Amino acid sequence: MKIVGIDSFTLRVPTVKPMALDLPEHRLVVTRVQSDTGPEGLGYSLLFGGAGSEAVEAYARHLSTLLIGEDPLFVGRLWDRMYRADRGIRRVGLAGYAVSALDIALWDLAGKVANLPLAKLWGATTDRVAADGSGGWGSYSIDDLMGEGARYAAAGCRYYKMKIHSPEPRVNRQRVEAVRKALGDGVQVMVDVNQKLDVPSAIRQAELLDDLGLVWYEEPVLADDIAGCAEVARAIRIPVATGENHYTRFEFRELIERRAARYLMPDVCRANGFTETLRIGQLAAAHPVAVSPHVVHELSVHVAAALPNASLVEWIDWVPGDLFEGMPRCEGGAFRISDRPGHGISLTPDAEKKYRLNER
Ligand SMILES: [Mg+2]
Repeated sequence: MKIVGIDSFTLRVPTVKPMALDLPEHRLVVTRVQSDTGPEGLGYSLLFGGAGSEAVEAYARHLSTLLIGEDPLFVGRLWDRMYRADRGIRRVGLAGYAVSALDIALWDLAGKVANLPLAKLWGATTDRVAADGSGGWGSYSIDDLMGEGARYAAAGCRYYKMKIHSPEPRVNRQRVEAVRKALGDGVQVMVDVNQKLDVPSAIRQAELLDDLGLVWYEEPVLADDIAGCAEVARAIRIPVATGENHYTRFEFRELIERRAARYLMPDVCRANGFTETLRIGQLAAAHPVAVSPHVVHELSVHVAAALPNASLVEWIDWVPGDLFEGMPRCEGGAFRISDRPGHGISLTPDAEKKYRLNER
């Protein structure tokens, strides 16, 4: 079997309110890997807010030239070829997104050839993965927060994650308290700082939330500052979560060794695809940390279901109904792995027409 062509293009997908108050659109850099014997693999990287999609698409096109003519079922070998090319460019940041889009497409193709969903191809531990409903941006009113939390609760979610982005720690506490009260004891809450604080402020903010029984305290400081994150984790009682802005098993090894977090959150569209995210998960399995993949739940459910140490998958309910076919539905607060082979997601016949960015 040989790879005979790879299409790369970008979809620009508008969001609706209240998410649109913070992020009016997202972009997906899509790669479609064609084989000489018929099956195709679909990969994509989701760029929240869309920034950098041009660079990711351009680099994915460059990496594609390394794959043409190769056997797509040697996914690990092709991943290594992409990872080790252009050694002046580390596979972090936008380059990690580009490798991810192609790696995800290669695995999708491998799953289709095997006629198995990826979770089962990888030795599934479960066919059902619980989700935390996530959103709660800083621009949301309290009513927006409560409404969103209630919608996730109605889908059975027992966890709701909201941002704490106000520069005033007491305002953040008031918002979290209001949401907790509105959702009641059946829904636990976690909070996300999104790297906005320095170490002393992150510690002060956590202390102010300490009695609220939060599940975790996410990305307290800049993702670059692993030592700072570890300092926060040592100082506060709420477990720390981080990882959506880390890209390789080497970065995750450092997070683990420094005890910087109790929950690790690799993103399959950033952390060099399924191949590296599975390695990160297996590495974590040898330590007292849980893995809770970041967004793109429709892809990361396969990783979570294949790992022995997965916690929740993050579900941000933003995807319009006319973008994908095969989206898993949340039932009883969890996503079931479907029997569709590969990752099970395809673009609708109209998705390209409606969302594809014009060729430049
Ligand atoms: Mg986050």
